[in-house]
Amino acid sequence: MARVFNFNPGPSTLPLDVLKKVQEELIDYKGTGMSIIESSHRSPEYDEVNESAMSLAREIFGLGDDYHVLFMTGGASSQFALIPLNFMGEGQMGAYVDTGTWSTKAIKEANIIGKAHLAGSSKDDGYTFIPKQDQLDIPSDAAYLHITTNNTIKGTQYHYTPDSKGLPLMADMSSDIASRQLDYTKFDLVYAGAQKNLGPSGVTLVLIKDSLLQKAKTDLPSMFMYKTYADKKSLYNTPPSFSVYVLKLVLEWIKGQGGLAGVEKINRAKQERIYQMLDLNPDYFKGTVQEDSRSWMNITLRMPTEDLEKKFIAEAKAAGFVGLKGHRSVGGVRVSLYNAMPLEGAEKLAEFMDKFKKDNPA
Ligand SMILES: *Cc1c(COP(=O)(O)O)cnc(C)c1O
Repeated sequence: MARVFNFNPGPSTLPLDVLKKVQEELIDYKGTGMSIIESSHRSPEYDEVNESAMSLAREIFGLGDDYHVLFMTGGASSQFALIPLNFMGEGQMGAYVDTGTWSTKAIKEANIIGKAHLAGSSKDDGYTFIPKQDQLDIPSDAAYLHITTNNTIKGTQYHYTPDSKGLPLMADMSSDIASRQLDYTKFDLVYAGAQKNLGPSGVTLVLIKDSLLQKAKTDLPSMFMYKTYADKKSLYNTPPSFSVYVLKLVLEWIKGQGGLAGVEKINRAKQERIYQMLDLNPDYFKGTVQEDSRSWMNITLRMPTEDLEKKFIAEAKAAGFVGLKGHRSVGGVRVSLYNAMPLEGAEKLAEFMDKFKKDNPA
């Protein structure tokens, strides 16, 4: 069996142990004579999957009963619209920090439903940094403050949690959820498409504080209300059962790694290994973002020429390191180091980068 080191930005690598477990359980799930994806979402087997995924999430993120764990569909992209739809009052604004493509999309949806107030932006500098607290302008009458904790395309990440000045704090954590220790209770709503750090595509994890949920609108179509998912334990309609099942296995895997503390330790070592190559060779592997805003999850860089970038990506692929091409909107190289990428992957890639540089002088 030849598994590559998969640096894809999403969908992305999953823990091998999880894949093996899926394979082992696929044909006959726990003696039912059928797979979990052939089972009713009202069956006791699925109920157990759903319940344990919710309680594992609470445990891992350090949340009490004052938070609901929801499994939704439509990706993070639907959350861009659902948040203003549920929480923007008549004539009210949502405050948004614009840190790149995904924030921009969230702002676009907010402006369709109501109005977005720009609380901060790094657009004029090509989204190369995360605005600091004192650069934020948070109107006291806004409905909420929305941030994107990790910018998958631009390669920046928050290394502090903004003070939202009493407003509910909403965060798109699609590409760094569960990657490090973080006080999740500072957030009122967290959402993440599962396909980066948590599992397959198809399910979106939402963590929502009950006090916020109580303020949500109740006159929307059922499928567009957070309340529906909270009241029905995400079983109002047919859930993406396979994705939730794999997500549960990934949460078990995270717990087995020692929870967020254990995962953080490995993630810290991984990004150090790659950024070290950038710092040692600043004219060859040119980081695209400011040092204090560097992402641990998506490391973006440019090389001396586009030809060298192409050669690097092609030779890396041939050597078993796939998915290193930068997003089509920015070009260059992107090294995605999600939770399931083993330390060995980052170490081997760093060695490959070193050798490539020696073999291909600029
Ligand atoms: C990938 C990504 C999205 C888009 O997620 P979908 O599930 O495809 O809608 C949104 N935000 C961030 C930060 C992402 O990384």
